[in-house]
Amino acid sequence: QNVANQIAAGEVVQRPASIVKELLENSIDAGAMSITLKVLDGGQTLIQVIDDGIGMDAEDAVKSFLRHATSKIRTADDLYNLHTFGFRGEALASISSVSEVEMRTRRAGDMVGVQVNINGGSVPQVTEVSTAKGTNIVIKNIFFNTPARRKFLKSVQQENKHIMYEFERVALVNPDVEFQLIIDNRAPLKYAPSNLHQRIVMLTNKTLGNKLLPIEANSPIVRISGYIAEPSASKKKLGEQYFFVNGRFMRNPYLAKAVEQGFGKLLPQETYPSFFIYIEVEPSRVDVNIHPTKSEVKFEEEAAIFQIISSAIRQTLGKHNILPAIDF
Ligand code: ADP
Ligand code: MG
Repeated sequence: QNVANQIAAGEVVQRPASIVKELLENSIDAGAMSITLKVLDGGQTLIQVIDDGIGMDAEDAVKSFLRHATSKIRTADDLYNLHTFGFRGEALASISSVSEVEMRTRRAGDMVGVQVNINGGSVPQVTEVSTAKGTNIVIKNIFFNTPARRKFLKSVQQENKHIMYEFERVALVNPDVEFQLIIDNRAPLKYAPSNLHQRIVMLTNKTLGNKLLPIEANSPIVRISGYIAEPSASKKKLGEQYFFVNGRFMRNPYLAKAVEQGFGKLLPQETYPSFFIYIEVEPSRVDVNIHPTKSEVKFEEEAAIFQIISSAIRQTLGKHNILPAIDF
């Protein structure tokens, strides 16, 4: 069983940032409205996620570390959960097989909480504990028992960069959730609950500021929403490019071309546009057979979606005439 978990871990846990992603998504799944992420040494020494979500009772807390024990489609929403599709019920089992885990959790209605400790896939140790409502999970010493894997970890700086990416992606689809990020002993970065526009502004460090223009399109096959940045705001050669498909970050170089085409000549030479585009499609029309951790998907109606996106962008640009900044 543990060997199977370690093998699965090879897919789920490629680096500390993959753990961050899974833990943050679990907190979101648990309905958390406030999430704190702490990391030490690029996540190698410690990754901690504290949420105020629904928490677990003792039985579920132990089960959560068993492979597939929790794999189930709970709500229709789960069908949209493309990114973790192949990994349903595998994340915590995999993570706990290659690290030292301590989890404390309590449901709102319970008097006491439960603490579960697992070291490298050992039998879970369970104790009662008094703890805040929600879940507080600490992952220590990643790959301590798989030295070959540990060697592949990059510098603290590199790993932190990947962690930031994952953090931002989750924060960008959940603007109403409060986030706090604490890297090493730096001052905490706080993101208050807000709307999407403000969340983008906060996360992009005001570099894009209020030069964001909303885009929107509806068709029987797809719903598009989000923001594009005024071309003049995209001074950097490489823009901030984000596609989210049914609430998950996805790469899509093909659709990025659709955005460029939408901008057409408005885009200065050698400049790439910045955009935050949210795509909602029926899950059955998306091919998730592409490896999930690569964050790539293929759409059935790719060409149609391409056209819808580029025309939505042209429409927004037209509506805002020479692109004045928008006042929110
Ligand atoms: P999955 O999310 O695919 O079900 P995971 O291994 O990530 O698999 O988590 C296993 C289970 O543990 C979840 O289904 C959920 O029931 C529970 N769980 C994990 N993290 C949390 C959390 N932060 N709050 C509440 N429940 C959680
Ligand atoms: Mg999960």
